[in-house]
Order: sequence, then C-alpha cells, then structure tokens
Amino acid sequence: MIPYGKQDIQKSDIDAVVEVLTSDFLTQGPKVPAFESAVTQKVGAKHALAVNSATSALHIACLALDLGEGDRLWTTPITFVASANCGLYCGAKVDFVDIDPKTYNICVNALRSKLEKAAKECTLPKVLVVVHLCGQPCDMQAIKSLADRHGVKVIEDASHAIGGKYQGEYIGNGRYSDVTVFSFHPVKIITTAEGGMALTNCDELADKMNLLRSHGITREPDLMTHEPDGPWYYQQVGLGFNYRMTELQAALGLSQLERLDKYVARRHEIAERYNESFEDLPIKAPWQHPDSYSALHLYVIRLNLTEIKSSHREVFESLRSLGIGVNLHYIPVHTQPYYRNMGFVPEDHPNAMAYYREAISLPIHPNLTNLEQQTVIEALKEAIFQ
Ligand SMILES: *Cc1c(COP(=O)(O)O)cnc(C)c1O
Repeated sequence: MIPYGKQDIQKSDIDAVVEVLTSDFLTQGPKVPAFESAVTQKVGAKHALAVNSATSALHIACLALDLGEGDRLWTTPITFVASANCGLYCGAKVDFVDIDPKTYNICVNALRSKLEKAAKECTLPKVLVVVHLCGQPCDMQAIKSLADRHGVKVIEDASHAIGGKYQGEYIGNGRYSDVTVFSFHPVKIITTAEGGMALTNCDELADKMNLLRSHGITREPDLMTHEPDGPWYYQQVGLGFNYRMTELQAALGLSQLERLDKYVARRHEIAERYNESFEDLPIKAPWQHPDSYSALHLYVIRLNLTEIKSSHREVFESLRSLGIGVNLHYIPVHTQPYYRNMGFVPEDHPNAMAYYREAISLPIHPNLTNLEQQTVIEALKEAIFQ
C-alpha cells in the first residue's frame, strides 16, 4: 500500500535520538528548550512550548485564554476532532462555521455573518480555532480583524502547516493570532513520533501554558506567593497536567527541523506533478492561494461526480484495492455521533457536506517516488473510468 503520508527518518535523526538515550536526561533536559528555540527562530515567534501532542497544545492554549464553562469556541467542521474537542475539555460550548467551497478553510463571509448575529444575541465565542487545512493558510488578516472587532481570541491550528507561509512569512509567527499550534505526529510535516507545540508572542500566555503543561508547578521565585523555603522548593500555583515532551522527541524534532524547507519543497514538486496530470480529468485539484505557500500536508482532490459513472465510495474503494492508501480528511466533525448528540445536524454546514461527498486525499510525502506517484495517477484514472 502506498500510504497517503509517512515520516522520513534518516541516520542523523537516529543518531540524535540515540545520543539522548545515553545522556543524563531523558526528559526535562536541554533538548526541549533547544527545540523550542529553534522553532521560534525558524518561524519568527517569541515563545514556543513543546508538549506531547497538538491536542495537548490546543487544550492548554484554550485554558490560557481563560476558556471555561459558559464560554463558546467556534471552529470549522472540516478538521480533525481535536480542534473542537479542546473547547469541550474546558467545559465550553462548541459551534462550527461552514467552510469556503474554494479553499476548504473556514469561510470568512460565513464567519462575519455568524459573528454579527452572535454579537446581537450576546452569544459571541471567546475563542475561534481556525485550521490551515492541508497546509494552506486561512485568510488570517481578515479573520483577525473580524475577531478583534468582536473581542474574540484566535488560535491557529497549524497542525498541517509548519513550513508554510502566509503573506511571505512563516506560519507560526503569530502576526494574526494569539496562539499557533503545530503537530509532530508522524504523518505531519516533521515528526517527534507524538508531539506538538504552542507558540505565542504574549509573555503572559506563554507563562500560563508553561505552568499548564507541567502540573501548574513552578520553580521560578518570581511566580511564587513567597520567597522559596530553600533550594528544594517549588510551588503548585495552578492546576496543570503532565503534557511534557521528552528529550528523545525534542532531539528528533530538532534533527527533522533542519529538513523542513526541503520537505515542503518536495511536497510542492509532487503537487505540481499531480496538478499537471489531472488537467483533463473530471476532478478538482486543490486551489492554491497566490499569496500563500502551502505546507501541502495533504493533497485533496474532489471528484466531479456528475461526469463520473462510479460513486465516490467506489472510486475510493477501487483505489484502495489497487494499493493506494487514499484517505478522507475529514469526516465533518459536527456529524460525529458525539456531536450529533449535542443537536448538530449534517445540513447545518452544506459546504462541508458537499466536500465530504467528493474529497479524496492522495498520497503525498517526501519519500513518495516518481514511480509510486505514477502508479497513483494511473490507478486514479482506472478508478474514475472503470
Ligand atoms: C493531527 C491534528 C491534530 C492533533 O494532533 P496530535 O499531535 O495528534 O494531537 C489537531 N488538529 C489537526 C487539524 C490535525 O491534523
């Protein structure tokens, strides 16, 4: 099976991890801060907090933004469930804004009208989680200006998007958001096995997230209620979690980060080749914003079903049977049973549903060979014209 995504592990990665294994620290050593500082320098953010997953990063970001009971979090229905679940972890209510039919990201017009309506009804969200789907950045400038007008905090779920650029600058610099979150799951752009990161330019948010990721415990005298009792002393000043990243993971991340630009460039080569091969097929290739540089975590096509005899499911099954590890990103979150039980109805978000009926993620990852890609292209043609 040719997988839709896969990590690239080289000898330098292995050496970096093995070196940590024989060092003094397996956790809470120098590699985590070194990884954090390398990422902040790469993307141009002030602070980075490495954690054990993007899910944890989303959770502590919401908590640091004071999201709690009685509050609301809005996000897009076309995302991984974690972008919405973080609101529920905090006891907040979750709601969705439909996607833009062209970019598949949150629709700015739908957001504007929903915010205006909510402002009148005093039901504005405290936090908006936008997702750079497939690595393509959302229209952050427009989103931030809407959010500011209504006093809404913005989290960028950039799980797909490290290495991508918006307005010529790396995603993660936080120019148009309060917190940005990266994921380092193996299918993502760079990996630490499991792992994630929360980035912010705000000192206060960074301090809060730093406490939240490690039990609410501090060893900083400045953050304590009184002078330390002695050199052993620490204080728990809030309620936190154990969301820490290990040294092994950070060493892997540091090593992978060196190849970030190469990875994204290779993804662009692959996408380019798909685009050219699909020009005459009854499918819609992903639209790319001219001002943006997508990290291209995913390459999603949409089937033009009126011109294809087979159904979406048949094309999908036929690709799988031909050894192509296609996938579907994502099942609209509001249609998941857990969310349906809260009263959401599929047709609340028609653009998301239309997308779900036609979308297929094709294999794209740095080690996909030209030969494998050709196999994917031929298999797709066969599946469509069978
Ligand atoms: C992968 C992913 C997550 C969760 O990442 P983990 O590191 O696995 O917790 C969250 N949001 C989106 C959009 C993702 O793709």
